[in-house]
Amino acid sequence: MIGDFEIKEEDLAGRIGIIETRHGKIETPVFFPVINPLKTEIGVNDLVNLGFKNFITNSFILKKNSLADGDIHQKFGDDLIIMTDSGAYQILEYGDINETNRAIVEYQAKIRPDIAVFLDVPTGNKDSWDEAKKTVEITLERGREIIDIVRNNQDIIWVHPIQGGTFLDLVELSAKETAKANDYGMYALGSPTVLMEKYRYSELIEMIHVAKSNVSRGKPFHLFGGGTPQVMPFAVALGVDSFDSASYIIFARDERYLTRERTYRLEELDYFPCSCPVCSKYSPQELRELSKEDREKLLAFHNLWKIREEINATKQAIKEGRLFEYLQQKAFSHPSVYSAFRSLLTLSDYLEKYDPRVKGEVKGLFLFDSSSLARPELVRHVNYVSKLSSRRNEAIIICGDRLKSPFFTDSKVKSIYSKYSKNADIYVAIPFYGLIPVLSSESFPMAQFEAPAHIHGELIEETLTLIKKMLDNKKYSKVSFIECESSVLSHIVSIYPSS
Ligand SMILES: [Zn+2]
Repeated sequence: MIGDFEIKEEDLAGRIGIIETRHGKIETPVFFPVINPLKTEIGVNDLVNLGFKNFITNSFILKKNSLADGDIHQKFGDDLIIMTDSGAYQILEYGDINETNRAIVEYQAKIRPDIAVFLDVPTGNKDSWDEAKKTVEITLERGREIIDIVRNNQDIIWVHPIQGGTFLDLVELSAKETAKANDYGMYALGSPTVLMEKYRYSELIEMIHVAKSNVSRGKPFHLFGGGTPQVMPFAVALGVDSFDSASYIIFARDERYLTRERTYRLEELDYFPCSCPVCSKYSPQELRELSKEDREKLLAFHNLWKIREEINATKQAIKEGRLFEYLQQKAFSHPSVYSAFRSLLTLSDYLEKYDPRVKGEVKGLFLFDSSSLARPELVRHVNYVSKLSSRRNEAIIICGDRLKSPFFTDSKVKSIYSKYSKNADIYVAIPFYGLIPVLSSESFPMAQFEAPAHIHGELIEETLTLIKKMLDNKKYSKVSFIECESSVLSHIVSIYPSS
């Protein structure tokens, strides 16, 4: 049925899904390149040649210039999935656009895109809470005002934007009210462009988190203006399913060259760190010598390639259950991306809540430093052991950082277990995991991980804190330590002195 959203794979709070539209199915996460029907440097044919099956264009511009009359697919192609937005971005840029919400929505119902947006009021970067609140209220009101058109045209997927800007209480309010509007098939978070341009990724993470936490996960979630590859996988990890942006062409006009890690100015480059058809054919110098028009077009092609590569790499990471590791890798591409990553770490409970318990075949975790402690598998492990009640009055902790996992097969562990398990609960203590009950040391993910050969300060401290948390409510009358003095966790003896 049109509007159905089927989730195929999940990792963290991100997913690969299928949205069903009138012109076919589209797999998410997906990027909708913005096509400006008045500018011809990149046209729909170019997108199709690059392998895109979908794009977004502006219904306000189409209407104002009488560019489409009947079904928009007749103009652009029947096999394309077309999204139209409303002109809200033009409001953000130029102020009032002299068009009513109802007229724009009626027009969209007439040109019949697959996905459509009513005329919301973007909060943008307003710094007055009162003004920001007004944009939320008017947007909600406009969503109600055209509900009859939405209901009568359910073969179009209607998007309800969420506003509020960087005021998280307003984003929450907006999302909660939006969630009640059942006739809408998709949610979207507005206003991130300003944050993206200013590299305020950490705030963007918070906005997405608040918005996503207050709407159903059963509908696709769009991020307006999210065309920056370095931050896209972070948005996906929180549950963003689609993006749109004109960044590829805006950057190209400005001679900016996107990579998946950062943005360069063409003049800075001696070599292209890319092998797309453009970068394989030209050197930076050769591109600089072309006419402005040709250069823009080729840069735009390259930029689109990079955005698509990023989406594909993110999807592959979800498929492998390695999205967390992928984000760790991305984190070091830019200090702002690193900030986004740190913000994401504070949301470990949210990520854990939606991360699937079973992810196909069991894979080993790649653990690096204390940031790995935020991964759902470890959050779950710590919660599990912390809640486990003690079975004996005493505990024996074997520091196991020099043992091979699975620990129960280690001869020393085995002999300690058979000797003492009648009187004591027996654990192996290792970095990252804290305590592992010996009997469950073979189950996932306790025995399936790769860790660095050398473990450093912060991780040791945090592991000791975890151990304390795990022991706290068990009220053992005695805790003994084996092999701990010379282990990386030697300090355990002083934070939890054996009695
Ligand atoms: Zn390239």
